[in-house]
Amino acid sequence: MKKFAIAIALILLPVHFYPTDSDAKIDEKISEIIDSINEETLLFYENILASFGPHPTGSETCDMVADFIFNEFEKEGLKVEYQYWEKNGISGKNVIATLQGKTDFILIISAHYDTVEVSPGADDDSSGVAVVLTSAKILSKYSFLHTIKFVAFSGEEQGLYGSEYFARNSYKRGEKIIGDIQLDGVGYAVKEDRKVRISSNSASKWIVDMAEQIALDYKSKIDLEISRHDYMGSDHKSFYNYGYEGVFFLEYEFNPNYHTSEDTIEHININYLTKICKLASATLAKIADESIDIMTRIVEPEIGGIYFSGRKIIELDGHLTILIGKIKVRAEIISSKEVQRVDFYFDNRFYGTVYEKPYEFTYKIFAFLNHKLRAVGYIEGKSDDNEISIICFI
Ligand SMILES: [Zn+2]
Repeated sequence: MKKFAIAIALILLPVHFYPTDSDAKIDEKISEIIDSINEETLLFYENILASFGPHPTGSETCDMVADFIFNEFEKEGLKVEYQYWEKNGISGKNVIATLQGKTDFILIISAHYDTVEVSPGADDDSSGVAVVLTSAKILSKYSFLHTIKFVAFSGEEQGLYGSEYFARNSYKRGEKIIGDIQLDGVGYAVKEDRKVRISSNSASKWIVDMAEQIALDYKSKIDLEISRHDYMGSDHKSFYNYGYEGVFFLEYEFNPNYHTSEDTIEHININYLTKICKLASATLAKIADESIDIMTRIVEPEIGGIYFSGRKIIELDGHLTILIGKIKVRAEIISSKEVQRVDFYFDNRFYGTVYEKPYEFTYKIFAFLNHKLRAVGYIEGKSDDNEISIICFI
């Protein structure tokens, strides 16, 4: 009887759990990755990239930087390729390194290696490239569930040309991109070295949530607080244009040297850059091992075309999708589980549900100019949405 009473008393005793870095949720692999990222590696890359001086797209120096990035990726045993693009009379190439996963879902970490004419671009965006290279160096020693692509774009300063080509090409090939983590200007911090800005659209907020969880779980190792934004001005925008998801890491403070000859390595805070690299790489590693139970993709209308009454009549070069006379949508659900339903929205307003394949829906509305189409697929306990921008004349 007494024993029983003691047992009851023990059960009733208040027990408090304080989440700390030493809790069970700490993943050894992620911990090790964070610990392997050091200032020496980032400084090494920043130094070399800065030594090239200004390297705008199309310049000989820009090609030399591309070669340097290519070789560094190759040294880590990654499969590396150049992806050539041309737009408005300007041509350039992206450098892509692939770490093959067990699935064909793809996760991307990216930055742009071109600069403006006058600037050596130590922060804009050698800082981002240094993070991508460091991340490739460390993560290539591990294997992940999903495929990771480490990408350096050019043509960013002209108008996201390299990334637009990349996203379009991936889209046309039907690649299943989970998301892109873009870093552009992540090495400047004079006062605010414990904060970082992460921008997303609504469909990509889950990536910021993931980064926030990493920042919390590994607080003592990373020491960064996330400030949420919705800035569009970098290569992640190209992914949004093709209905993909992504986020954009940016230093918290405004960099007064932005696009000037003063954007040099002397103004880079290597300790801050290292913390950003830890956060971005750990977030990437975490997502790369999470199973994807459902992915919704709007496959019709296809992005980059003019549709008349539900049929594609003209293929367009860019990402504009123009619908005349009718709005007909078809969604595809990638899942090994049973699909329960697909909901269809127009500018965040619910219009209808389809329960059986094909998941096609025709909107009975009149609409003009810019709007958004969204499809949300459901399996038991989970959902995924996909949103695309359209221009209508209905
Ligand atoms: Zn930039």
